[in-house]
Amino acid sequence: MVLSAFDVVVIGAGPGGYVAAIRASQRGLKVAIVDKNVNPGGTCLNFGCIPSKCLLDASQKYWQAQHHFKEIGIDASEIRLNLSQMMIHKETVIAELTRGIAHLFKKNGIHFIHGSAKLLSAHDIEITATDGNVRKLCAKAIIIAAGATPHALPHLPFDGKEIFSSTEALSFEKVPKHLVIVGGGYIGLEMGSVWLRLGALVTVIEFGDTILTQADDDVRAVLQHSLEKQGMVFKTNRNVVGMTKKGKDKELCLQVLDTKAKEGELPELVTCDAVLVATGRKPETGALGLEALGISIDERGFIKVNHQYQTTIPSVFAIGDCIKGPMLAHKAMDEGVAVAELLAGQAGTVNYDLIPAVVFTHPEIATVGSTEKDLMARGCDYKVGKFPFSANGRAKTIGDTTGFVKILTDAKTDCVLGCAIVGAEAGILISQVTAIMEFGGAAEDIARTCHAHPTLNEAIKEAALNAFDHAIHS
Ligand SMILES: Cc1cc2nc3c(=O)[nH]c(=O)nc-3n(C[C@H](O)[C@H](O)[C@H](O)COP(=O)(O)OP(=O)(O)OC[C@H]3O[C@@H](n4cnc5c(N)ncnc54)[C@H](O)[C@@H]3O)c2cc1C
Repeated sequence: MVLSAFDVVVIGAGPGGYVAAIRASQRGLKVAIVDKNVNPGGTCLNFGCIPSKCLLDASQKYWQAQHHFKEIGIDASEIRLNLSQMMIHKETVIAELTRGIAHLFKKNGIHFIHGSAKLLSAHDIEITATDGNVRKLCAKAIIIAAGATPHALPHLPFDGKEIFSSTEALSFEKVPKHLVIVGGGYIGLEMGSVWLRLGALVTVIEFGDTILTQADDDVRAVLQHSLEKQGMVFKTNRNVVGMTKKGKDKELCLQVLDTKAKEGELPELVTCDAVLVATGRKPETGALGLEALGISIDERGFIKVNHQYQTTIPSVFAIGDCIKGPMLAHKAMDEGVAVAELLAGQAGTVNYDLIPAVVFTHPEIATVGSTEKDLMARGCDYKVGKFPFSANGRAKTIGDTTGFVKILTDAKTDCVLGCAIVGAEAGILISQVTAIMEFGGAAEDIARTCHAHPTLNEAIKEAALNAFDHAIHS
């Protein structure tokens, strides 16, 4: 048992934790970071953002080769899927990026410790290695960045054979014949897109009225229509109420009931060979010993913090997916920087009004700031400037004209209040609007900025023009 003393010990080496560790070290603090996973990077690098985007990109290329190459003069009739190579490519990318984080730890003099951490007191942490070896660390401050794990449904428990979480759906060894996805949020739609493009029949079962409940209707409708055209089937207002096995092959059979069903109405039977439960993620705090120390947790399991990320114990801080707010890697990273700067005596902050969110389907959806339904609900006096990609030259050249840019502005001041982009590369395009909003800019600021031609960004300029004056090309 070794007792080591640090200024900061970070629990969890995901985007929140590793960024906090690096920034704290850059600010001159002595830092250790602990993760129960042997590779740093957390969910994002190992089981989330990076592997899913690897598969989305590879599967999109496969889809394009099959469906679009011919019309632009490329004969790709011999295209075949090599799923194991696609998975090797994904694992290689993960390995390179996690090695990169390990290198950054070394470069910044951060001690990376593999093991499961538990808080013993306001300053003491016990770390149990996989071989059972226990060591203790002592720190002036502890940052919990323990993340979240997939949420299981009681009647559809993950079994790794037929009922899967997103983690397993990133590594299927063969393409399912019929993949049912329970939950129409971004993770379900992204993973559904991957397996649909690779040849699966994909059905999304959503409890609510719509998929992507937070998006504006016009934005969501473009995506849903596109996914339906690609072959994805949607069953909204439906609940999976049970599961049985059918026939001599013991085929999986889900009982799917209309949420507005009258009493006695029988559920629809949906047969499939794989189910992905993508109904959300829950904070991963059970093993940390928080309750014994009196650290408050809210009713949904999130660690309660004040505006400086301090828990109910002043020397213990929490950031990322284990506290409230959007469960996104960039939100966790920005909180990592903020908490480290606060610990170093600086003024770390995060602007929670301007956290972009991207759905990496095809088309992509990217949003920042307020949605139109937010503004309506708040009774704001706003203007809408919209511009379709079908009128954008660059979108035509790449054969990707689905969608539009929608900019929402204050009707009196012209200040940009929000933006939604549905279309190709929306995730990249949204940064321009986010930056303008961060500086309190107006639609006219965007519209009078010279945009390179021909680019997709010109659709943002035209939407801004439409918000305060008139677009040129529509
Ligand atoms: C399929 C999928 C796709 C996603 N795609 C995107 C995307 O495109 N963009 C985006 O912004 N976000 C995406 N996310 C969400 C993103 O991965 C998370 O928001 C992000 O990883 C949260 O970072 P974090 O540091 O808070 O936690 P995590 O990344 O979850 O890291 C927490 C770490 O803490 C460790 N840990 C937990 N408990 C202990 C303990 N007791 N002792 C030691 N270690 C512990 C865990 O092993 C883990 O490594 C996706 C998630 C999934 C599942």
